Amino acid sequence: MFAKKTVKDIDVKNKKVLVRVDFNVPLKDGKVNDDTRIRAALPTIQYLLDNHAAVILCSHLGRPKDGVDPQYSLKPVADYLQTLIPQKVFFAKDCIGPVAKQAADALESGQVLVLENTRFHAEEKKNDPGMAKQLASLADIFVNDAFGSAHRAHASTAGVADYLPAVAGFLMEKEIQYLGQAIENPERPFIAILGGAKVSDKIGVIRNLLKKADEVLIGGGMANTFFKAQGYPVGDSLVEDDVLDVARELVKDGSNKLRLPVDVVIADKFEDDATKKIMPTGSVPDGWRILDIGPDTVTAYSKAIAAAKTVVWNGPMGVFEFPNFAQGTFEIAKAVADSGAVSIIGGGDSVSAVNKSGLADKISHISTGGGASLEMLEGLELPGLAALQDK
Ligand code: AMP
Repeated sequence: MFAKKTVKDIDVKNKKVLVRVDFNVPLKDGKVNDDTRIRAALPTIQYLLDNHAAVILCSHLGRPKDGVDPQYSLKPVADYLQTLIPQKVFFAKDCIGPVAKQAADALESGQVLVLENTRFHAEEKKNDPGMAKQLASLADIFVNDAFGSAHRAHASTAGVADYLPAVAGFLMEKEIQYLGQAIENPERPFIAILGGAKVSDKIGVIRNLLKKADEVLIGGGMANTFFKAQGYPVGDSLVEDDVLDVARELVKDGSNKLRLPVDVVIADKFEDDATKKIMPTGSVPDGWRILDIGPDTVTAYSKAIAAAKTVVWNGPMGVFEFPNFAQGTFEIAKAVADSGAVSIIGGGDSVSAVNKSGLADKISHISTGGGASLEMLEGLELPGLAALQDK
């Protein structure tokens, strides 16, 4: 059960509602290049508009370094949002200060105001109380619907909740329900699949999943570090030498749950047109590198996935950006899609692999937040969620 109040638990009629959304979308030539996160925020925005609130949206976008940087402006996002909803969408060139205050004061129920990038102020990432107070002064209610930023304690994700009644939006609720259920009360067998470039990013996640899941299937570059830790030759593969001890410890602790590839696809150079060979794990010659899991691994992992009732997947099984080394990732995506299990995919690269493979419709939940979903899988409390009112 979702323990936080949502927009449905609070009277929003004729109120000004500040909504932290995750509009951190990729832009290309000044236009929105992927609208997934904008669309994911629409149910909350539409609910508030239908219930006669004035909706003030704030978000960060990218990583602007020193204050205002036009390439990270939210103006293109505001323009794009206007094409998705019939209500009037205004834009304010600052998220706090007189410009924001005037625009918020003038906003009427049934209208939308998009504020400029919160990270144009350095105070945002410092969770500065002054900035949080200024954001709060724009509205009567705070709604956090930015799951993708919920693992950050920033002024617009956590601090602002100190100064206003603060509740969750529908996207936040849905994300937490799927990920929380998988971690706390999964239908079993519960299989976790972890890939991606590095182990070091996901040590806490592997540790927690070894406790919670029935099996943890490892693929991608991170498997190489486990191989080397066990004394297998890995040639020129990507390896993190500084976490070999941790990898050894995880293999030891998780001996009956942690599974590593039994075969791999190796390449004579890090390029799509490299010569490739399939090799059993442990026989990678010098000068070659592992770029994908092998067919026997795909078969073995797919069998485990087919029997699962809950599957959580983060990180590709190989360098799937190279079509010649994408097969492991796509086959695993297919196994997950066909499993009939409650399937949850988090993390940018596994999400784009599933989208590319055209299987997204068959996945129960595709998370909008890579970092936040990993922290959930690690069992950590998300500050942006903790700050909201309990039911
Ligand atoms: P992450 O952001 O940690 O999920 O890592 C995703 C990246 O891992 C992708 O860009 C993949 O190309 C990369 N990756 C996956 N498998 C390998 C591998 N065997 N060697 C090098 N990079 C890999």
